[in-house]
Amino acid sequence: MEEIMMSVKSISKSYGSNLVLKDVSMDIKKGEVVCIIGPSGSGKSTFLRCLNLLEIPTAGDIIFQDQSILNGKIRVNKYRQNVGMVFQGYYLFNLKKVIDNITMAPRSLNKKKKELAEKEACELLDKVGLLEKKDVYPSSLSGGQKQRVAIARALAMNPELLLFDEPTSALDPELVGEVLKVIKKLANDGMTMIVVTHEMGFARDVADRVIFMEGGYIVEQGTPKEIFENPQNLRTQEFLARIL
Ligand code: ADP
Ligand code: MG
Repeated sequence: MEEIMMSVKSISKSYGSNLVLKDVSMDIKKGEVVCIIGPSGSGKSTFLRCLNLLEIPTAGDIIFQDQSILNGKIRVNKYRQNVGMVFQGYYLFNLKKVIDNITMAPRSLNKKKKELAEKEACELLDKVGLLEKKDVYPSSLSGGQKQRVAIARALAMNPELLLFDEPTSALDPELVGEVLKVIKKLANDGMTMIVVTHEMGFARDVADRVIFMEGGYIVEQGTPKEIFENPQNLRTQEFLARIL
């Protein structure tokens, strides 16, 4: 049985007269890992931001667990507990210790008791390999460690779907691997994820499906094998030739 978790139906998004997402549709199934690749400015971030309601599409609809998220009836905070997002720039609270970064949302939004929130935070920090950093401040962490804390923080809400927008693009090359390893582990655990990435090796390894976007369109999609070994569209071919 293949359960559709989210169904994006012909969404468009414009900023003023600039149409940056053009009639984009996709379904994501429970447990599926989708990687989105494509040149800068192609609308990848805008697409993810629409899925997380950081932007509102100007046309189309998004169905999550059989409900429209654009009909004004859902609670955005509640929705974002189900659909978490990890950004290129971490956005940790620098004046809070690592563990408090992670327990903050579960305690305030879910009214979780301190002890339970901290116990779960420690389990998540252990999962991302940073338990020993629980009492330090983010400023003492490397970029890779910060991003792993950001992932643990997103996981603390127990999301159904996790969105990653170029999670390793801000990192020094030697720190990319430790973050990708954590995301790969989540994939193996069955987490449903959409990952915008320039790491083609990662996309090839981890994605069930790869989507190539350019100019606000989904130009081509397929299995990693189809996209990387036998791309059909000339623009996909040109993009891959430039970066591989
Ligand atoms: P990508 O993530 O693929 O690099 P983006 O989604 O960030 O692409 O951007 C797509 C287009 O939308 C770009 O032309 C960008 O300048 C424009 N854009 C993105 N965000 C905004 C915004 N908040 N206001 C106006 N234009 C924007
Ligand atoms: Mg982007």
